[in-house]
Amino acid sequence: MKSQDIRSTFLNFFKEKSHLVLPSAPMVTKDDPTLMFVNSGMAPFKEYFLGNGTPKKSRITDSQKCLRVSGKHNDLEEVGYDTYHHTLFEMLGNWSFGDYFKKEAIAWAWELLTVVYKIDKDILYVTVFEGSNDEDNLSLDTEAYDLWKQFISEDRILKGNKKDNFWEMGEQGPCGPCSEIHVDIRSAEEKAKVDGKTLINEDHPQVVEIWNLVFMQYNRKADGSLENLPNKHIDTGMGFERLCMVLQGVQSNYDTDVFTPIIREIEAVTNTKYGSNEKQDIATRVISDHVRAVAFSIADGQLPSNTGAGYVIRRILRRALRYGFTFLDKKEPFLFRLVDVLSKKMGSAFPELKAQKQLIENVIKEEETSFLRTLDQGLILLDGIISASKSKEISGEKVFELYDTFGFPIDLTALILSEKGYTLDEKGFQEELQKQKNRSRAASEMSTEDWTILKDDAIEEFVGYDTLTSNVNLTRYRKV
Ligand code: ATP
Ligand code: MG
Ligand code: MG
Ligand code: MG
Repeated sequence: MKSQDIRSTFLNFFKEKSHLVLPSAPMVTKDDPTLMFVNSGMAPFKEYFLGNGTPKKSRITDSQKCLRVSGKHNDLEEVGYDTYHHTLFEMLGNWSFGDYFKKEAIAWAWELLTVVYKIDKDILYVTVFEGSNDEDNLSLDTEAYDLWKQFISEDRILKGNKKDNFWEMGEQGPCGPCSEIHVDIRSAEEKAKVDGKTLINEDHPQVVEIWNLVFMQYNRKADGSLENLPNKHIDTGMGFERLCMVLQGVQSNYDTDVFTPIIREIEAVTNTKYGSNEKQDIATRVISDHVRAVAFSIADGQLPSNTGAGYVIRRILRRALRYGFTFLDKKEPFLFRLVDVLSKKMGSAFPELKAQKQLIENVIKEEETSFLRTLDQGLILLDGIISASKSKEISGEKVFELYDTFGFPIDLTALILSEKGYTLDEKGFQEELQKQKNRSRAASEMSTEDWTILKDDAIEEFVGYDTLTSNVNLTRYRKV
């Protein structure tokens, strides 16, 4: 089944169950000061759940563009290193606003996966909320448990804790237990190696969560206590690219037709072959992922810039270039050349990509040119630092200056130094970085909830040093 058909099958399934099919909301939020990018399917419907508005229909279905690069949901570090977390991904969802509840949500999820998509039920596991002994004093979600029991054997219904199986919008507001559906596509030999252990939520690339069904049945009050919601809601989110991986019988999201056309193009423009070298494979995955995030963001009207959301996009773009420069030896602009194939692939589901193609290409090319110039200047400065150094270990302070003032990437510095037989004072660098973080933390706030008010002037610092540059991770770099 092609990805396009997988998406439309989902939407049609729920349309037949009286859901209104909506297009994805823009990924870049303009009118929500608490959230920079939509990071889950429910974000555009937040106001309905808070009771501040009424949806067009009490049942809705859509495929929402999500970006998880900051705050509570920051998957950036995993992207490219694993095969199932992306920066930008599509979340397929069905919604009930005070209409149906657990019974329908569970039965329909099961029907869609096993009857319509024909997924072998022996690769599926589900989780239910086990309850909590804390001040909430909640018991096992027996309602969900008993519903699942009708479809799946009890040894495949696992009980999960508050962290994985209780969803809260924020410190206050709607919340409730959830049930997640996981797939296990390991071979029999792989399973035998660990005595058949399930490995759910243990970061195994073939044991992944595909769908989360949230049952909003409580309201968390200002004093922290819970009350039952008069109208209960359903909020579900399924990772589209992960679903494609399962239905196309492959082991990685990057081997689905969502990514393969982009990867073929990267191979062509960099003259490399995906699958032949681990470092290059990671770089190829990073680039194929990041170009989507950047292109969709520009299509939504968010251009790379020096502040706020634009700064996040600029750093994602530069991260892709850095991987290209370092691991695929790409020293001239190339990212913009991937936009054509992306817009051909996704343009019918997301017409904004087709409509803005020219702009996206121009903006990316311009960004690439200017960043590559910075890199060139950085290389000259680094040469100067090396020749002035009396020791084979380059001072952390100097390297930090290069990074902080000139935006020269630290992993690139480490690579160049090692090629020339030098090392860098990693401890000194980390100390400088820590000082910098302390300075910026004073002005910002770490986000731990889905929504946190970020002070306007703190956004840039927050994003720059706490999230997008946290890939200044030399240990990881060395592992590659
Ligand atoms: P995971 O535990 O794998 O990080 P999650 O529990 O954070 O996923 P949810 O917030 O429950 O994810 O989102 C609903 C669904 O969206 C998940 O079941 C998964 O299929 C998909 N998903 C979540 N994060 C990503 C991502 N970074 N890239 C691709 N798909 C994702
Ligand atoms: Mg996650
Ligand atoms: Mg999870
Ligand atoms: Mg989840």
